[in-house]
Amino acid sequence: MNVAIFGGTFDPIHRGHLAVAGAARQRFDLKRIYFVPADIPPHKQKARFSPFHHRYAMVALALQGEKEFLPSLMEAPGEEALRPPSFSIETVRRFRSFLPRSDRLFFLIGIDAFLDIAKWREPEALLRETEFIVAARPGFSLADVANALPESLRPAKEVTKPFTRQPATGDVVLGGVTLHLLADTHENVSATQVRTAAAAGRATARWLPDSVAEYIRKTHLYKAGRGIHVAEKAPAARRRKSGEA
Ligand code: ATP
Repeated sequence: MNVAIFGGTFDPIHRGHLAVAGAARQRFDLKRIYFVPADIPPHKQKARFSPFHHRYAMVALALQGEKEFLPSLMEAPGEEALRPPSFSIETVRRFRSFLPRSDRLFFLIGIDAFLDIAKWREPEALLRETEFIVAARPGFSLADVANALPESLRPAKEVTKPFTRQPATGDVVLGGVTLHLLADTHENVSATQVRTAAAAGRATARWLPDSVAEYIRKTHLYKAGRGIHVAEKAPAARRRKSGEA
């Protein structure tokens, strides 16, 4: 069975995430996609995020009715004994430990997040542990993907130069690592955009599943002046773990 892990802050989950997951499901015949909201302890936050329970609730609501999409508590804050994985490599290994050996495991990620991969914990091990599905977004090239790889896997600049104008599509297989590049889904939305609009009292419904829009309305989650939820993330803080940012 083909299974994918889709990690993110999901603050909030939006149509862009669902479009990417839907496209990946179709192309790779995924029978399960685990949406894994990241636990981000306050001392590790470079920007402020909504508490885990709100982000998880919105993920669970958004996945209603999608048989293959599952909300995951893998990274939920827990007791010491249930310590959540701190890095993606740990999350992947935990998933591996309970999935049947015959399952084919993928790691789904947007290209902007992938560009930081070399700074993550054990990037080579992570890339070898699962196949990556990298979702394209406008403006990124095949060369960007290759140049983002950790140094030991990165092709020389002369090799990638011809690909700077080539859109990120197709498959890249390098040194035991497989990257599948998923074509742009054209859902041009980010969670930052949603938080900013909500904080300013502007409409957000077009970017969100109805259930999530309703949840945000009812909880005033991103209302300006409510403290911690107003958009303020810089692009560099996009990655979910401080050790991976
Ligand atoms: P923020 O604006 O807060 O940084 P985000 O919209 O990028 O958030 P995340 O939860 O950080 O949402 O994203 C989880 C994953 O989904 C990341 O790998 C990100 O690149 C990818 N992603 C988010 N939005 C889109 C989109 N519109 N199209 C394709 N991939 C996306």
